[in-house]
Amino acid sequence: MLKVVEISNLTVQYPDVKALDDVSLVVNQGDFLGIIGPNGAGKSTLFASMLGLNTRYKGMIKFFDEDIKKSKNYLKELGYVPQKPIFEKNFPVTVTDVVRMGLRKESDENKIDEILQQLWIHELRERRIGELSGGQQQRVFIAKALVNNPKILILDEPVTGIDQQSIDLFYSILRELNSKQKITIIWSSHDLDAVNKLANHVACLNKTLFFHGESETFFSDDKLVKQYSEASMQEHMSHH
Ligand code: ADP
Ligand code: MG
Repeated sequence: MLKVVEISNLTVQYPDVKALDDVSLVVNQGDFLGIIGPNGAGKSTLFASMLGLNTRYKGMIKFFDEDIKKSKNYLKELGYVPQKPIFEKNFPVTVTDVVRMGLRKESDENKIDEILQQLWIHELRERRIGELSGGQQQRVFIAKALVNNPKILILDEPVTGIDQQSIDLFYSILRELNSKQKITIIWSSHDLDAVNKLANHVACLNKTLFFHGESETFFSDDKLVKQYSEASMQEHMSHH
């Protein structure tokens, strides 16, 4: 099995808080990994570190067996959908413009049409991004992340504030990307049921890694799920 990501003893200390504490994790090619954890568990910090956006960590992150501090080549193989879109509501760009921003070479222009069709947003291609529903916008940002044919797709809590119909469509798109196109997916979520249904691996994060393994192992162990839920609930309460 080809190791895509290898995280060893990752610790991130912000001035006021330790966000990650000695996290080690391997992701193999073709895995569909769900990362679950309450608010403040360190999920976005983990992604920021993997993307090279946060370099102040202890430990090591390797993609394709290379330390990401030594080589940025891996970024070509990575598509990323951030937790919150980074444009303003009246931003004067169309759907096609947003997807084109993700394109590395302008010569691949026809790839845009292909990906818009695959994500059911082709008929929206001339619309301004700010006019679209949350679910439609989300598919635009997934299209942007996919337009360079990445081997790995990272999504940070992608269904926050999106209607159920769009969520269902989104999940079926993810399933197809993983099973048919063999894209490795790393996805953070609050939704245990969705992770249970979609992911084949699960990592329960709460600064430290509470569990990492096959999702069947986790979800078939009622005691483990209960223990995790109680721990993360407590964490959640203490933040509010
Ligand atoms: P999650 O995505 O699981 O909600 P985060 O990684 O965003 O968790 O946050 C983990 C902890 O680190 C939180 O306590 C948060 O307030 C803190 N934190 C996140 N980003 C920063 C930052 N850039 N500077 C300082 N503290 C941060
Ligand atoms: Mg987050």
